[in-house]
Amino acid sequence: MEKIKMTTPLVEMDGDEMTRILWQMIKDELLTPYIELNTEYYDLGLEHRNETNDQVTVDSANATKKYGVAVKCATITPNAARMTEYNLKEMWKSPNGTIRAMLDGTVFRAPIVVKGIEPCVKNWKKPITIARHAYGDVYKATEMKIPGAGKCELVYTAEDGTETRELIHNFTGAGVVQGQHNLCNSIESFAKSCFNYALDTKQDLWFATKDTISKKYDHTFKDIFQEIFDAEYKDKFEKAGIEYFYTLIDDAVARVMKSEGGYIWACKNYDGDVMSDMVSSAFGSLAMMTSVLVSPDGYYEYEAAHGTVQRHYYKHLKGEETSTNSVATIFAWTGALKKRGELDGNQDLVEFAEKLEKACIKTIEDGKMTKDLALITTNPNPTVLNSENFIKAIRQTLEEL
Ligand code: NAP
Ligand code: MG
Repeated sequence: MEKIKMTTPLVEMDGDEMTRILWQMIKDELLTPYIELNTEYYDLGLEHRNETNDQVTVDSANATKKYGVAVKCATITPNAARMTEYNLKEMWKSPNGTIRAMLDGTVFRAPIVVKGIEPCVKNWKKPITIARHAYGDVYKATEMKIPGAGKCELVYTAEDGTETRELIHNFTGAGVVQGQHNLCNSIESFAKSCFNYALDTKQDLWFATKDTISKKYDHTFKDIFQEIFDAEYKDKFEKAGIEYFYTLIDDAVARVMKSEGGYIWACKNYDGDVMSDMVSSAFGSLAMMTSVLVSPDGYYEYEAAHGTVQRHYYKHLKGEETSTNSVATIFAWTGALKKRGELDGNQDLVEFAEKLEKACIKTIEDGKMTKDLALITTNPNPTVLNSENFIKAIRQTLEEL
């Protein structure tokens, strides 16, 4: 069979530890036998980030702006322990943070739904995708402890020196106070990324805040979403047969629990932090969550939602067998290949990526899975495979499809 050709390169960001091992296996077993892989390779492994003073991360983000689509392996975010382990020159920043800041993107996280791995919420039949605004609010807040009686105010000093004041509280005793902010630009980018991704995946978009209580702050989020929707997306949504739906956050939470899934839920920063952990654990496994960074300019970076699976890597280094789930990393590749194919009008590439996704799902539904899934499956007799044999089983299924 002739291999599928690619006209434009995909930006490939290699990573660390166990996921780096899986990365190579996935390429060898599931990609290069079928595709003439055309990638521009960036090694974001911690050693190489350290050697290049993290320039490689910046270069990989710039390449994503050039080509439009990237696929990323999980990477170590250095902490004190990693400083000694890797003899680092500096505690380099999280690559995801650097890339997100450069692309100004929003992260969408979606579970891969398979029969036999059932969500805790029994009416959830389709994936729920969480979009988290990743700027500001409580994550960039300034706080004060108020020791005793006194007046606390918000003061805005314009460039010309004029002051606007708002009383926060007349304290009669001790208390606490917090100042939060956000930027209209950032909220607009967030809104556009959400509308674009909804169109891309043909799913309804839900957005919720507490605008009845927060009449200026949260209401600004609501207004910006609505203005951009009315001006730029209303017609496109109608054509695509999808809906934009705004409600209060408490109403949204109640509706989510009773829904069957199949939509994107856009969340403010804090709501997204909390709700993405709730939704992902309710869907079963971190190893089955995908993640894509979508920039308002239409750049895409695909990855797995989990980390480098350090504990498994140390077992691997000791020569022990591992059973690490590669599905989310495979879906990072298929997501990126599909998007590359769509942008280039390369139907063969799109179809191959879809077939590979089906092969992953069928392999698990046929009872062949890694240990993390075997522990939670409703299948009474799963076959537990090691990391390598699981990928080989997917190849087998792929050959038979
Ligand atoms: P992790 O790599 O997500 O793993 C945490 C635990 O979850 C694992 O020990 C394992 O549980 C389970 N797990 C996660 N993915 C799995 C998979 N594919 N198959 C089977 N089990 C899986 O998180 P971590 O150990 O806290 O972090 C390790 C490193 O990853 C850190 O250096 C962190 O900075 C980095 N990280 C990177 C990203 C990213 O690049 N996007 C995201 C998060 C973390 P058991 O041990 O019980 O089997
Ligand atoms: Mg969290």
